[in-house]
Amino acid sequence: MRRNFVPLLAAGLLTTFLAFSSYAAKSGGDSSPTTVVIDAGHGGYDRGGIPGQRASEKDMTLDVARRLKTILQANGYRVVMTRDSDVFVPLGTRTAIANSNRNAIFVSVHFNSATRRSASGIETYFYNRESLSLASAIHHYVAGGAPSENRGVRRRGYFVLRRTNMPSVLVECGFLTNPTEAGYVSNASYRQKLAEEIAAGVRSRGSVASSRSTTRVATAESIPLQPYIDQTRVSSSSKKSRSKHSSKKSTRKKKKSSKPSSSEARVESLDREA
Ligand SMILES: [Zn+2]
Repeated sequence: MRRNFVPLLAAGLLTTFLAFSSYAAKSGGDSSPTTVVIDAGHGGYDRGGIPGQRASEKDMTLDVARRLKTILQANGYRVVMTRDSDVFVPLGTRTAIANSNRNAIFVSVHFNSATRRSASGIETYFYNRESLSLASAIHHYVAGGAPSENRGVRRRGYFVLRRTNMPSVLVECGFLTNPTEAGYVSNASYRQKLAEEIAAGVRSRGSVASSRSTTRVATAESIPLQPYIDQTRVSSSSKKSRSKHSSKKSTRKKKKSSKPSSSEARVESLDREA
């Protein structure tokens, strides 16, 4: 009996090893392909951006989301869209759609806006620590591939990031209020490029290390929850001090206090209007 037990044990270990290899390759807990939930920001009566903004954020996010869907499906991913037309989808519905999928990651596509027209650049947001590697990878490619300023990976409690129980990222693919960036985004080939860079980030989410990244990213040890930064008042010379300032003011509160600070209140308002 004992002699027979050894090969059986070896076979068992081999099976376990193969199962683990499969687990690692799929980056998930079962044999199904990873599902990417693509969230095109805004839609319907919610145009996104700021009043008077010429380029409609909701149209640009949907276009990039659709391109991203095509690329990821070609790469073997299962894709779920929180919206695939010009409709308004409440944030709670978006996160419910995301959370109904197993072995999934969530990518929310947005464009930025500011009353200061010179504000520009790419920034990527995450909230949970498990989302940092995905955020770093997507930001590495999008910021690296876009001819725009790198505004870094930031931690902020956007609704769709807090309420999704999976690695989740929100990428701001440039400022539509900046004439130069709006010009880029008006070009279909540039939107295709953005989608390809996001897809590259999704594919390499386990292999882009924060420390090796050429982009300015948060590290797992120090990821402060950043308060709202009024981008309309940021001058290009004060960016570094602004970053330090926001770290000092960071808070790890998970729930709104009965009397939220103005920055928290602004974060709440941004939950509706990212
Ligand atoms: Zn937005």
